Amino acid sequence: MKIFRFRYRRRVLYGILKEEFLFPVKGSIFRNYKIEDSAIPISDVNLLPPVVPTKIICLGRNYQEHAEELGNPVPAEPLLFLKPPSAIIGPQQAIIYPGMSQRIDYEGELAVIIKKKAKYLAENFPWQDYVIGYSCFNDVTARDLQLKDVQFTRAKSFDTFAPIGPCIDTDLDPEAIQLKTFLNGKLVQSGNTRNMIFKIPFIVQYVSRIMTLEAGDVIATGTPAGVGPMNPGDRVDVQIEGIGTLSNFVKKIETRR
Ligand code: MG
Repeated sequence: MKIFRFRYRRRVLYGILKEEFLFPVKGSIFRNYKIEDSAIPISDVNLLPPVVPTKIICLGRNYQEHAEELGNPVPAEPLLFLKPPSAIIGPQQAIIYPGMSQRIDYEGELAVIIKKKAKYLAENFPWQDYVIGYSCFNDVTARDLQLKDVQFTRAKSFDTFAPIGPCIDTDLDPEAIQLKTFLNGKLVQSGNTRNMIFKIPFIVQYVSRIMTLEAGDVIATGTPAGVGPMNPGDRVDVQIEGIGTLSNFVKKIETRR
């Protein structure tokens, strides 16, 4: 099942996709809901980010080839950092190139979407009960600032640096799926989730032992090799087998008077 969040006639709705139509849901997608009969053509809606998280937890260096391409060792434990919820944008929205940076990179990633509160999960917990599904994510990074600063906050947290979407796929088996990133239509990243150093069940349990996860929270599971810069005017697509394609474009910052 593919769950979309969208704006239609000034209302923000969740809906389930069937062919080219969205069927709105009543209630919470995380708990109980009913699917309404009225169908809305997907071409008539504005897609929104599929979740409104309380936090976005990201893994760094979770694919060996990517750790190597930036000259970093493979971590012995998951390397975590946060992006603020204010960085979230949805499909077709602009990634704003900040004036503070001279190099911003795409990082195509698989995002895990949390289904319900998770705190101190035990080993061998039924992890599927805590995951509603998966989405495409772009961990946009100001690479020059990441190298300059001691930690990642500035480089990872600019507004618009967390594109996510287009939907939550609830049926995906994330174990061994293809992840591709295209820059202006050209393939620049091609990886498979089977090459993740830390796997999803372990990651969910590990993070839950640090911070309480809430419904809608996002865990971005790291990027494969092939990261590179984007420029104003570029279009970037993160495509994950079974989920779909998250498309965004890069725009220069508009200074406010
Ligand atoms: Mg990343």
